[in-house]
Amino acid sequence: MYDVIVIGAGVSGCAVARQLSRYDVNVCVLEKCEDVCEGTSKANSAIVHAGFDADEGSLMAKLNVKGNAMMDDLAKDLDIPFKRNGSMVVCIHKEELDGLKTLYERGVKNGVPGLKILTREEALEMEPNLSDNVEGALFAPTGGIICPFELTIAMAENANVNGVEFRFNTRVEDIKKGEDGLWHLRTNNGEYTAKYVVNAAGVYADKIHNMVSEDKMHIIERRGDYCLLDKEVGGYVSHTIFPQPTKYGKGVLVTPTVHGNLLIGPTAIDIENKEGTATTAQGLNEVQAKASENVKNLPMRNVITSFAGLRAHLERHEFVIEEVKDAPCFIDVAGIESPGLSASPAIGEMVADMLKDKMGLKEKENFISTRKGITRTEGLSIEEMNELIKKNPAYGTIVCRCESITEGEILDAIHRPLGARSLDGVKRRTRAGMGRCQAGFCSPRTMEILNRELGLTYEEITKSGGKSNIVIERTKGEVSGS
Ligand SMILES: Cc1cc2nc3c(=O)[nH]c(=O)nc-3n(C[C@H](O)[C@H](O)[C@H](O)COP(=O)(O)OP(=O)(O)OC[C@H]3O[C@@H](n4cnc5c(N)ncnc54)[C@H](O)[C@@H]3O)c2cc1C
Repeated sequence: MYDVIVIGAGVSGCAVARQLSRYDVNVCVLEKCEDVCEGTSKANSAIVHAGFDADEGSLMAKLNVKGNAMMDDLAKDLDIPFKRNGSMVVCIHKEELDGLKTLYERGVKNGVPGLKILTREEALEMEPNLSDNVEGALFAPTGGIICPFELTIAMAENANVNGVEFRFNTRVEDIKKGEDGLWHLRTNNGEYTAKYVVNAAGVYADKIHNMVSEDKMHIIERRGDYCLLDKEVGGYVSHTIFPQPTKYGKGVLVTPTVHGNLLIGPTAIDIENKEGTATTAQGLNEVQAKASENVKNLPMRNVITSFAGLRAHLERHEFVIEEVKDAPCFIDVAGIESPGLSASPAIGEMVADMLKDKMGLKEKENFISTRKGITRTEGLSIEEMNELIKKNPAYGTIVCRCESITEGEILDAIHRPLGARSLDGVKRRTRAGMGRCQAGFCSPRTMEILNRELGLTYEEITKSGGKSNIVIERTKGEVSGS
C-alpha cells in the first residue's frame, strides 16, 4: 500500500518521483520495462528548448520556459552534462522572414530571455556551414543540449536514494477504485494499492486514463526518425539549427549532442502504433533532404546509427497535467510531447505541488538534493588516470574502445542505486557501446562483466530486458582437458 503510485519511469515519472521524494510520503514507481528511460525519453532530440514555439499562455510554454531555467541547477545537483549551446531558427526564403518575427514575438511573450533576429551575415558568421540560401535566423541563447538518459536516470537514482521504490517489469493492466476508497492496480506482478495515482505512461497514457475515466483520451503516436553521426563531425555546427516550424512541429534539426556527436532529425509521421519505433528508408531519406536545406554538405558518410522515437500527440497539442474530473485522486501527466524533456523539472514540481496541497505533505528534513554521477575517465590527465587506477585497477582496463569507457565505469553503473542489468542499461549510463562500432567490440566484454557481477548466465543477459536475449544456447560443447 502506497500513498502515491507513479505509472511510468520516463523523464516525466522520474521528475515527479524526485520532487515527491522531498516530502514525507510513501511513493512507488511502476514501470513495464526493465529499466528507467525505456520509452520516448530515450529517443528524442535531447534539446532543452528555449520556449518560443509553444502558444502564448499554454501550459507547454509555461513549463518549457520554467524547466529551461531550472536546468542549470538541476544539472549541477545531479552531476549530469548540460550545455547552453544556443539555438537558431533558420529562414531560407525571403518571403518567410516574417515567420521569424512571429516566433520572436511569441518567445518574448512566453518570457524567453535574450532572443535576437540575426541578419544573413550574422547567422553565417556564427554558423559557417549554414546553407548559402540563408536569409536570416532567430537566435535563442538559452537553448541547450542535454543527455536525456542521464537526466532521467539521475532523477530516478536521486528519488530512490530519498526513499522512492521502483518496480520494473511491472505493467499496469487494470485500475479500479475499491470500496476502501483506494486505487487498486492490477499488474503482471501482483496487485498494488495507493491513495493517489500519477499517470505518466507516455504514449500509453491514454490507455491508463481510459481505465478510470468515461471521458476518453486518444494519443496519436507521431514517429520521429533520426541519424546519429560520428564524433569526428560533431563540431559541424555548434548551435542547434532548426527550420521554421510547421503544424507538425519544430521540423528537422541539425545539432551537436552534449557528448560530441552530430544529430539530424526528426521526421513527424503519424502511425497509431505504440511500439512502432522502427526507422524506414523513406523517413531517413527525408531527414537528410530536409536537414540539407538549412546546413550545406552534411557529412552523411559519418552516420553511425539511426533510431526513432514516438511523440505522445494529443489533437489539442497541449500538456494535460490535472486531476481527472470523474476520477478523484488520479492525476494525468499526458500528451507530454516535445518540449517534455525541457519541461520535465517543472512538470515534476507542478505535480508534487498539486499533491502537496491535496495531501497536506510536509517536507523531509533529510532530503538529499544532490547525486554524484559515475566517475568519468574521459578528459582526465595521465596523472589523474594513474591516481584513479592506483585506487581501483578496473579503471585501467578499457572495455569500449570507441568511447574509451573503462571497466571501472561499468562496475559503477552496475552497482549504484537502480543499477544497470542489461547491455542497454550499461550503455545509457556509461556510453559503452554508443560509439562508432555500436557495441560490436564491447558487447561480449560487457556481458562477461554482467555475468560476473550480477550472477546472470549468458543466456539470461539481454540487450534491454524482455526477450531481447543476446545468446540463446551454446553451439559447441565444452572442450574437455586431455
Ligand atoms: C522525435 C522526438 C523528439 C523530441 N525532442 C525533444 C527535445 O528535443 N526536447 C524536448 O524537450 N522534448 C523532446 N521530445 C519530447 C520528450 O522526449 C517527451 O516529452 C518525454 O520524453 C516524455 O517523457 P514521458 O516520461 O512522459 O514518457 P516516456 O518516456 O515514454 O515514459 C513513459 C513510461 O511509461 C511506461 N509505461 C507505459 N505503459 C505502462 C504501463 N501500463 N505500466 C507501467 N509502465 C508503463 C513506459 O514503458 C515508459 O517507460 C521529443 C519527442 C520525440 C518523440
